[in-house]
Amino acid sequence: MVPSGGKKVKRGILQRLDAGEVVIGDGGFVFALEKRGYVKAGPWTPEAAVEHPEAGASIVGVNCHFDPTISLKTVKLMKEGLEAARLKAHLMAQPLAYHTPDCGKQGFIDLPEFPFGLEPRVATRWDIQKYAREAYNLGVRYIGGCCGFEPYHIRAIAEELAPQRGFLPDASEKHGSWGSGLNMHTKPWVRARARKEYWESLSLASGRPYCPSMSRPDAWGVTKGTAELMQQKEATTDQQLKELFQKQKFKSS
Ligand SMILES: [Zn+2]
Repeated sequence: MVPSGGKKVKRGILQRLDAGEVVIGDGGFVFALEKRGYVKAGPWTPEAAVEHPEAGASIVGVNCHFDPTISLKTVKLMKEGLEAARLKAHLMAQPLAYHTPDCGKQGFIDLPEFPFGLEPRVATRWDIQKYAREAYNLGVRYIGGCCGFEPYHIRAIAEELAPQRGFLPDASEKHGSWGSGLNMHTKPWVRARARKEYWESLSLASGRPYCPSMSRPDAWGVTKGTAELMQQKEATTDQQLKELFQKQKFKSS
C-alpha cells in the first residue's frame, strides 16, 4: 500500500467517526478537550457509560492508567453497558504503552516504578499492533494511546489498521511493515526475520533475570478519599515527607 497521508480536509472528530472512519488518537488531545469542557471523566465502568444518558456522551471509553489488555476489557464492559441500556456511542481506547497486569484499582500510579522506572514494561510495536486489531474487532473506532506511547507505537496502530483506513501513515515512508526493512540487511539470518510470522509468534525475553515479573502495588487507597493521596496545591511538608519515607522504607526492606 502506498502512503498517502490520508485525507487532508479538516473535519471534526464526530464527523469522522460518524462517517465510519478509524481515528487514531493521543492522550494529550483528550486532555486538551477536557480543558475546553468537551470531555468529562466518569466514575466507574460500566456505570459511567450509562449512568447519565441525558448527558448524551457521543464517545465513551478509557484513557490512561491501565495497559491495553485491561483497557480493552474495560471498554468491553462499557460496550455491554451501552447495549443493555440501548444507548449508542462511539467507543474510544487510549491505554498506556506499559504492561501493567499487576496494578491495582488506581492503575500504574500505584506501581512502585511510577513514573521513572517503567521502561522494562514498555510494549513492543507488535504488542501495539495486536492491541489495535483487538480494539478494532471490539468495535472501537477511536484507537490511540496515552502515557508511554512513542511515535513508533502510534505508527504501529496506523500500519495495523491501514487496510481498514485505506492508507498508510506518512511515517511508513521510512519504515516497512512487519520488519520488511530487514530485507536489506547484509546478514542472511537477520534478513530471514523480515516477515510477519517471525515477529507475531516471538516469545519476548525481558533480559532481566534478577527482576520480578510483577510488582506489589502500593495500594494505599484511592485518590478520592484517602488523605495521603489527595492532591494539594501547597508544597509537601517535612512532616508529610517523613511519614512517606517511613512507608517507602518499609516497602523496600
Ligand atoms: Zn496518560
